[in-house]
Amino acid sequence: MKCHVCGGGLKAIVTDMPFMLSQTTIIILKELPVSQCENCGEFLTEDPIMERAETIFENVDEATEVEIVRFAA
Ligand SMILES: [Zn+2]
Repeated sequence: MKCHVCGGGLKAIVTDMPFMLSQTTIIILKELPVSQCENCGEFLTEDPIMERAETIFENVDEATEVEIVRFAA
């Protein structure tokens, strides 16, 4: 897989990443496996990872302001 922005090489890393679900709700996924471009630094998330992340988001209470979820593989 290549970077969709610059075509550079990707490196698999594990990182913590915040996602804004709405104006008031932020979810931080810890230990999220992503690919990062070695050239421009763009993060890419593969489809199975995003699907799992979306499942986590669906289960977040709308009243939550900040939640930290460990993304266990
Ligand atoms: Zn790139």
